[in-house]
Amino acid sequence: TDNLSLAWALAWIRGAQATLEEHRMELIDLDREIGDGDHGENMSRGFKAVVAKLDDSIPDVQGVLKMVASTLMSTVGGAAGPLYGTAFMRAAKAADSDLDSEKVVAMIAAALEGIVARGKATTGEKTMVDAWTPALEAATAAQQAGATPAAVLRAAADAAAAGAEATIPMQATKGRASYLGERSIGHKDPGSTSTAYLLDEAAKAAGA
Ligand code: ADP
Ligand code: MG
Ligand code: MG
Repeated sequence: TDNLSLAWALAWIRGAQATLEEHRMELIDLDREIGDGDHGENMSRGFKAVVAKLDDSIPDVQGVLKMVASTLMSTVGGAAGPLYGTAFMRAAKAADSDLDSEKVVAMIAAALEGIVARGKATTGEKTMVDAWTPALEAATAAQQAGATPAAVLRAAADAAAAGAEATIPMQATKGRASYLGERSIGHKDPGSTSTAYLLDEAAKAAGA
């Protein structure tokens, strides 16, 4: 079967921690341009705490994602902590111990719904919503075309990366970057960038 399960979730979260560590300075520098310079440190601290809590007693995908959610809520702080915490909590609720392509799309949809419920941003406001929205669109299209769960995640990740790039010319109207007004134009949104890295690791963990 192409379906994804606990081994995928564990590999994803370990991969996410490694890539966020690798890109810590890049995320700090992006957030220095239009925010307060802590996004790389926030994500690094959060995922280190998450990986420290991974153990054999976690029974399934939903258990992994719930632990990630509560740990990010309590360790990340700032805007990103509650936003990613809500995203992982909603994804956990939409998940199953055995994930087919439809479930993978449902998890991405749930994550985006959680982020929007929490942060009230829409597309074009230069936030992580601008990475998650194209990710969901691409994942849905791939699933409808018969893609495997891994290929759905690859489509989502590539669209998120393009979405993050597309934030560069946007003016921020939500979050800390909105305080800069027009001066936020010309910089890539840090949260969209970390979203692209997270989804890229989800695809890699699935073998895509
Ligand atoms: P803070 O801004 O509190 O320092 P972080 O630097 O960790 O928090 O995270 C900033 C990121 O959070 C931004 O780059 C943006 O992608 C995201 N963000 C901020 N506000 C919102 C919001 N209302 N909705 C969605 N995403 C948001
Ligand atoms: Mg910040
Ligand atoms: Mg901050």
